[in-house]
Amino acid sequence: MKVPVINLSDCTTCGTCVEICPQVFRVAPGGYVEVIELSEYPQGEVDRAISYCPEDCIYWEESDLRV
Ligand code: SF4
Repeated sequence: MKVPVINLSDCTTCGTCVEICPQVFRVAPGGYVEVIELSEYPQGEVDRAISYCPEDCIYWEESDLRV
């Protein structure tokens, strides 16, 4: 399964990905942006968030883990 990952060291918490794709990205209580755990991720929306992320810090990763 492909899961989106945020490289937090580059993320400026601009909120663009949360605006574009709130079903996948959210602001965590600590103030950083995190990926919500889902059994499946909407490819189109995540790709859109990836293309609009000003820091280019969202990417897909292969994962064997099942939620
Ligand atoms: S769009 Fe990119 S820089 Fe902005 S909050 Fe999301 S991951 Fe961080």
